[in-house]
Amino acid sequence: MQTGKPDELPVFKYEIFVPESGQWETYYWSNLNQPVAGEQGLTAYLINTTANVTERIKQIEALDNSLEREHDLNNELAAINEELRSLNEELATSNEEMMASNEELAETNLALNETQSTLQTTVSLLELSQSRFQTLVKEATIGIIVLMGKEMKVEIVNKSYGRLIGRTVEELLGNTLFTIIPESEASFRPVIDNVRLTGETLYLYDTPYLVYHNGEKIEGFLNLVYQPYLEDDQSITGVIVLCQDVTEQVTARKDLDRAYEQVRLSKEAAQLGTFDMDLEKGTLEWDPRCRELFGISHTDEVTYDKDFITGLHPEDRERVISIINNVFVKAVSNGAYDVEYRTLGAEDQQLRWVRAKGQAYFDEQDKPYRFIGSVLDITEQKQDELRKNDFIGMVSHELKTPITSLNAYVQVLQGRAVKADDDFAIGALVKIKSQVNKMTSLVNGFLNISRFDSGKIHLDLQSFNLDELLAEVMEETKLIAPSYTIVMQPCQPVSVNADRDKIGQVLSNLLSNAVKYSPKGKTITLCCEQMGDIVQVSVQDEGMGVKPESVGNLFERYYRVETKHTQHISGFGIGLYLCAEIIERHKGKIWAESEIGKGSTFYFTLPHTSTALNQ
Ligand code: ADP
Repeated sequence: MQTGKPDELPVFKYEIFVPESGQWETYYWSNLNQPVAGEQGLTAYLINTTANVTERIKQIEALDNSLEREHDLNNELAAINEELRSLNEELATSNEEMMASNEELAETNLALNETQSTLQTTVSLLELSQSRFQTLVKEATIGIIVLMGKEMKVEIVNKSYGRLIGRTVEELLGNTLFTIIPESEASFRPVIDNVRLTGETLYLYDTPYLVYHNGEKIEGFLNLVYQPYLEDDQSITGVIVLCQDVTEQVTARKDLDRAYEQVRLSKEAAQLGTFDMDLEKGTLEWDPRCRELFGISHTDEVTYDKDFITGLHPEDRERVISIINNVFVKAVSNGAYDVEYRTLGAEDQQLRWVRAKGQAYFDEQDKPYRFIGSVLDITEQKQDELRKNDFIGMVSHELKTPITSLNAYVQVLQGRAVKADDDFAIGALVKIKSQVNKMTSLVNGFLNISRFDSGKIHLDLQSFNLDELLAEVMEETKLIAPSYTIVMQPCQPVSVNADRDKIGQVLSNLLSNAVKYSPKGKTITLCCEQMGDIVQVSVQDEGMGVKPESVGNLFERYYRVETKHTQHISGFGIGLYLCAEIIERHKGKIWAESEIGKGSTFYFTLPHTSTALNQ
C-alpha cells in the first residue's frame, strides 16, 4: 500500500485433509498482492491473487530430487572411477612386481649358473695353485721346511733348505729333523718348541750359523722366520721355518762398518772436519770438527751464507768465494777444490788457518748438485811458516849491510889490482865479485819473499818498452853464460805500464833457469808477442824438462824437482815463486809447458799500455 509496488509473498505449504483419499496431503499456494493506483498516485486498493502451485512445486521438487540423485550418482560414479583407477594402479604395480620377480628369477638363475661355473674355475684354480704352490716352495731361493709335531717330522722341505744345511730333500723328507742334523739340536730345538707351544711367530736376523755356501761349509749368517703351522680349526700342529742365507750381505755390511770406522778413526786422528753441501736443497752440513774450525759449538743447522761466508776472514773472503764459484763451473775446475784460508771463530773470535779440499759433483747438464770435502786445521803449520819467513827476512836484512860493504871493498880492491897490474888478484876478484853478486840476488830474493808475505811489496809502475827490457836482460845473460846461444825472435815494440825492475827480475830469473837447467851449447829463445789486450813473453830452452805431474807445482814456494840431474844444481826453489807473485800482482798470468828430455817453455802475460792497470 505504501510503496505502490507488487509484492509476491513466499509460497505457503499447507497440509490439507482430502476427504476423497481420507489422507492429509501437501498443498502449495502462491500469494501475490498487486496495488491498484487511485487518485493522486496513491494506492487505492490491493488485488490479492492466490494460486494453487502444488503441481509446479512438486514438479520442481521432483526435478530437484532427480538432480540430487544425479549428483549422488555422479559422485558414486566418481568414487567407482577412483576405485577403478587405484585398482588399475594396483594391477599395474602387481604386474610390474610380477615382471620384476620374473626378472629376478631369471637373474637368480643366471647367478646360480655363474656361481656354478665360478666354483668349477675355483676348484681348477685351486688345483693349479696347489701345484704352483708346491713348485714355488720347491724352487724358492729361500729355504723352507715344515716340521710337524713334537718330534719335528719333516713334512715339506725344499732344495734351498737342503743346500743350506748340506743335506738332500730326500734325506730330510719324512724324517725327524734332528736325527739328520743332531749338531743343531741344542740351539734350535728350544726355539722351534717355543713357537709351536706359544703360537707366536719369531724372527731372527743375522743369526750366525755354519752354512753351506756354494757347496762349501763356511761360517755364515741366516735370517730366520719361525711360524706356527695352523690347521683349519686353528690348532697348531707344527712349525714352518723360512731361512735365508744373508752371509754376503752381513759380511759386506761388516766390511762397510769397518771401513766407516776406519774413516772415522783416521778423520779423528787427522782432526779432519767434513762438509757436505746439497746445492739442490740449499743445505749445508758440518760435522763437529768442521764447526770447531769455524768457532761454532752449537749443533743447530748451518748455512753457506750465514756460517761459512761470515766465518771467513774478511781478507780471504772474496778470494775464497771466487774460487768456489769456479769449483761450481765444470769446464773451469772439473769440480776440484783445494784452498787455504783463515777463519774467524763465530763464538770465540779466534783466528784459524784452514786447508779445505773437496769435490763438486755435476748432473748430466753439468749443473753442480753436491759439494763435499774436508777441512784441516793448519794454523800451527802456518804460524811456523810465518815465523820461519820472519826469521829468513830478518837474517837476509841483516846480511844486506855486510854484503854491501863487501861489494864496496871488492870494487876498491879491483881498482888497486888493476893499478898494480896484479893479474892473479884481478882474476880472483872477478870470481869474488860474481859470488858476491849471487849472494846479493839470493838475499834480495829472500827479502822479497818476506815483503810479499807482509804485503809490503810495492809496485813502482812506469811506462816502458818491454821489447827493450827483453833485449837488455838477454845481453846481460849472454855475458854470464857465454857458452849458450841466446836469441830473440823479431818483436814489435810494445809498451807496458809495469814495475820495470821487477819485470826485469822475472825475465832474468827465467833466463838464468833456462841456462841452469840446460846443457852447455843449447839454444835459448826469447819471444814477445802482442795478443789483443795482452802481451805474451816466452823463454824457451832445450834443457832437461820437467815431468808433466810436476809442472803445476813449479811456482810453489820452495818447490824443487828432485832428480839425479837436479841434485847437483844449487837453488832454494824461490825464483819461480817470486816470478809468479810479481806477475800476479801485475794482473798477468804465468805458466810453463815442458817435456822431459826435450826442454821447457815458460810464459807470462801482462796487460799492455792501453789496458794496463794504473795503480
Ligand atoms: P831453483 O832454481 O832455485 O831451484 P826455481 O823456483 O827457480 O828455484 O825453480 C824451481 C824448480 O823448477 C827448479 O828446482 C827446477 O827443478 C825447475 N825448473 C825451473 N826452471 C826450469 C827449466 N828451465 N828447466 C827445467 N826445470 C826447471
